[in-house]
Amino acid sequence: MDIQTTMLTSLRTLAEQHTVETLGDRRDYLGASEIGYCPRKVILEKIHPGEHDLATLLRFQRGHMAEDIIARAFTAAGYSNFERQVEIVLPGDVPLKAHIDFVFTSKVHKIKSILEIKSTSRIPDGPYSSWESQLYIQMGALARQYPEYSIKGAVLTLDLAHGEVAFFNGYEPQETIFNGLMERAGTIWSHYQAMLRGNDLVREGVELEMKTEVSPLCSFCDHIATCPRFETEDVPELENAVAALQELQAREKNMQGEIKKIKKHLLAVVEQKGPIKSGGCFLRKATRSRKHLDIDRLEAFLNESGTFLDEYQENRSFSFLEIRKAKAA
Ligand code: SF4
Repeated sequence: MDIQTTMLTSLRTLAEQHTVETLGDRRDYLGASEIGYCPRKVILEKIHPGEHDLATLLRFQRGHMAEDIIARAFTAAGYSNFERQVEIVLPGDVPLKAHIDFVFTSKVHKIKSILEIKSTSRIPDGPYSSWESQLYIQMGALARQYPEYSIKGAVLTLDLAHGEVAFFNGYEPQETIFNGLMERAGTIWSHYQAMLRGNDLVREGVELEMKTEVSPLCSFCDHIATCPRFETEDVPELENAVAALQELQAREKNMQGEIKKIKKHLLAVVEQKGPIKSGGCFLRKATRSRKHLDIDRLEAFLNESGTFLDEYQENRSFSFLEIRKAKAA
């Protein structure tokens, strides 16, 4: 078994164990983190859970590591007034659970503070709305469980690869937002139940209609291939992302042109003048050598040995995003 397969199977087992130990069977309830996500994705993940790929499994591990790092940091700083993975079952017709990463308690001041940890590959400019929805449900749930306490909430985001951290603080329970999210949870749950009742249709591949919400998270969605929002050739929801990419690419091209121009100018100066100092930097003409494969000589050598260069060349496929101007309809 190769290393990738070993990692894939063992990380899948670990992920399943972790889910069972901390979250239980997610088909039986709605989690606070699910309510802010696209309803179709949430429902289909309960009905057709699918197997995670290595990239997703590594992301899960990165999330657990981030939580462990924060727990160790708070312990080292002398804090012992926190609990981890606090589960709260919300009362009501919809089976709803909130799993909170950290709850800090001050018995003296009667304050309970939620800290939700998010591990990302890039620190966003602000918290995602799905994070905030999760936090409002968690705060509402905690407020109902501990009416004598003031509740506060925050999100701590970690980019482990670049060592960056962002803290989004100052949240407090908002009854109107909480009630709106509870209503949303009710709708998702009733659509989920309808899907389960119509499971025969699902088995036949006929989908009952579910609400869809296009977001940047669609690129991580296992159900994008069958998603009605991406069914037609034209997907207006991605217009902004396409426009942003094209603008950045145009700027990159202009900048590369500018960089080349300035480099050429400065090189011409140091070529004439020799090393100089300017703007707090030393500038000089540097020469490096790099190994170069002489293909003609190699080909001649191989031919003499009765073989050809072509025999050592192989096609390797690679993927990239191709963007071409669409013809006007
Ligand atoms: S692709 Fe996007 S809109 Fe479609 S189900 Fe997945 S998350 Fe929802």
